[in-house]
Amino acid sequence: MAITGKAGAWGILLRSEIDPDTVQSVKERIDLFGGHEDIDVFQRLDSPRAFVSLLVLHELAHLQNDWPQAKENDCDAWAFERLPFSENL
Ligand SMILES: [Zn+2]
Repeated sequence: MAITGKAGAWGILLRSEIDPDTVQSVKERIDLFGGHEDIDVFQRLDSPRAFVSLLVLHELAHLQNDWPQAKENDCDAWAFERLPFSENL
């Protein structure tokens, strides 16, 4: 969840646990609406580190672009495009 404090500072809150069904639904949404036909989304987000990175970038998309919750697919696409390609993720 993206939050903005009274002084305008940005914050990102993440759940301490994310169940497998939620992980799967996020991956499916990105696969369906992310516009990345040339990339295997499920393989790209296979590690917990890559998935959490995507979640943080997704919330940053809300903050940086001032996008409301209704723009979930846009936030996913924005985040996926900025996910670093690294063997360490
Ligand atoms: Zn969102």
